[in-house]
Amino acid sequence: MDIWEKLQSVEQNFFAIEQQLQSTARTLPDPIFVIDKFGKYLDVIGGKERSLYHSGDFLINKYLHDVMPESLADTFMQTISESIEDNSLKTLEYQLGPEDITGSPLDGHKSVQWFEGRVYPIKDQGGEINSVIWLAINITDRKKLEDQLKELSEKDALTGAYNRRYFMQIFDREFSIAKRYKNKLSVLLIDIDNFKKINDTYGHAGGNAALKKLVLLCEELFRQSDMFARYGGEEFIVMLPNTPSLGAAIIAERIRAKIEEMAVPYEKETIKFTISIGITLVLDTDTNSNAVLTRADSALYQAKKNGRNRIEIN
Ligand code: GH3
Ligand code: MG
Ligand code: MG
Repeated sequence: MDIWEKLQSVEQNFFAIEQQLQSTARTLPDPIFVIDKFGKYLDVIGGKERSLYHSGDFLINKYLHDVMPESLADTFMQTISESIEDNSLKTLEYQLGPEDITGSPLDGHKSVQWFEGRVYPIKDQGGEINSVIWLAINITDRKKLEDQLKELSEKDALTGAYNRRYFMQIFDREFSIAKRYKNKLSVLLIDIDNFKKINDTYGHAGGNAALKKLVLLCEELFRQSDMFARYGGEEFIVMLPNTPSLGAAIIAERIRAKIEEMAVPYEKETIKFTISIGITLVLDTDTNSNAVLTRADSALYQAKKNGRNRIEIN
């Protein structure tokens, strides 16, 4: 074989490998879009997994702004420009529904999906960077799992109220803000009276029904800016930003009265119960959030000592 024959065979080999690579790429489950700096789709490679992606071939030669909502197209253009400008990988997460892409064949999922875009600049044949490859990965399952984990870590499984740990996290932050800006921040500590007796009379499930009903009522009563949480077994806590003690006492008294009136249907019976509430306000002298909670706890203790079904301020 002379040198020319050798070169020819190398070239043929190279061509064959390139063809193979291209056809492999086209069968990839996740789609890769080649998009230029003007937002024009130059090519669509892969994306064959129909349970995760609609087919995208129809996009070729169209512009981002032709096929998707303007604000999303603007965001995509911004990411493409940044990737080209910095010559670096950019990632972004976005949601897309089947109706969001004009002209999309409805051959994929029917609901809104989450995607992660991994955007990387590529050189054209002249060595200039004028376009990017955009790898889209359907991350809907991961997002759902993240939401579930967040819910599990922030909420109480029985009642769906925020749990103590999450409350403390938010309260610590609000405590610092209240101290810095001298805002009035009040706390209510709520404890069901003689709850052991409810459990003894109606059973644990009856007690649970009472806890759930209390949570429903309280979540209805409080403002968006307030935070209500299950503090422990039959103890609940509320943080009231921008509320002085008098305002907090009026709110506490309203809850106390509502709970006293409330009837919880359980099996063929009706459970009635009352609550006691300890109220306190964040003071200038408080060096940490625990000092506030200790004071709320002693106000609650006073309410119990003074006969239950009442509120006390400390
Ligand atoms: P007091 O008026 O002094 O608060 O009396 P109490 O009976 O409510 O006192 P205590 O705090 O000692 O009792 C709380 C009871 O709540 C004890 C516990 O078995 C019960 N409890 C705690 N968590 C749950 C729960 O998730 N479900 C049910 N049904 N009961 C619970
Ligand atoms: Mg208790
Ligand atoms: Mg109790």
